[in-house]
Amino acid sequence: MNQKEGLYRHPKDDLLREDRIPHIWCAGCGIGSAFSACITALQKAGIDYDRFAIVSGIGCSGRGAGYLKIDSFHTTHGRAIPFATGLKLAKPELNVFVFSGEGDLFAIGGNHFIHAARRNVDLTVICVNNMNYGMTGGQVSANTPFGAKTTTTPYGNPEIPLNLPSLAAACGAVYVARWLSLDVRRLTQSIQEALVKPGFSFVEVIGPCPVAFGRRNRLGSPLEMIKLYNENSVIRNNVHPDETIIEEGKKMVLGKFVDIQRPTFLETLPKISTEGGTTWPDKGIVTESRDG
Ligand code: SF4
Repeated sequence: MNQKEGLYRHPKDDLLREDRIPHIWCAGCGIGSAFSACITALQKAGIDYDRFAIVSGIGCSGRGAGYLKIDSFHTTHGRAIPFATGLKLAKPELNVFVFSGEGDLFAIGGNHFIHAARRNVDLTVICVNNMNYGMTGGQVSANTPFGAKTTTTPYGNPEIPLNLPSLAAACGAVYVARWLSLDVRRLTQSIQEALVKPGFSFVEVIGPCPVAFGRRNRLGSPLEMIKLYNENSVIRNNVHPDETIIEEGKKMVLGKFVDIQRPTFLETLPKISTEGGTTWPDKGIVTESRDG
């Protein structure tokens, strides 16, 4: 019996482009677990695969789109979110999600994230935060922890990293969560919830990059590195997102932090076009003259 007859089929094979395997990710990299959780969430979501579309940017995580056997778009650096926004507006029936890294989504593409969350575009954004630009040799990113060494900060990073859950919540995301790539079950559950949640959902995955980041900071083998992350993290569901900053001397806070409702961009858009103009200030409000 050969592979075509089914003997060697893996449970995730129906969603993988086998002709693209082997993938490019290094042994022990956290992206593999994050991607695998994503596939399981897609399988569990109970939605026709033809209704899903994945968009990625550039970087190690950005390769994700090319491996999934659904409508897949590998876009230019930092532009996954505007591409996904266009796709969602043109084809509202699609369930569009973005899978990319923190360098792509928050450094080069940072502004796009802010405004898509503010507009509450109906997207799910899954960001693998490996704390550096792994693919291009381990340069400092907007999420490298203070003091950590990278190829461009050989004496330690002098900058404070972005707090991604706090940024997402402040910009208006309706669903915000953060997990380690090790927390496969919780992560899968979270991605599943985010995929079906109307509005802008965000899931951060802290994933070890043992090759570029771990080696430079002497964090040991891939196994030792994820063990270290696990020992230095704590689950605090529903905590205020401002309390989730990653800093020295504090455990990394994991959990689901935001799960709220507000009208999506596609729900508010027709309101403007049918009413034929602005509703601000509200037409019903009688205002006094500024001069008294
Ligand atoms: Fe993963 Fe780092 Fe290798 Fe990129 S360079 S695949 S982030 S281990």
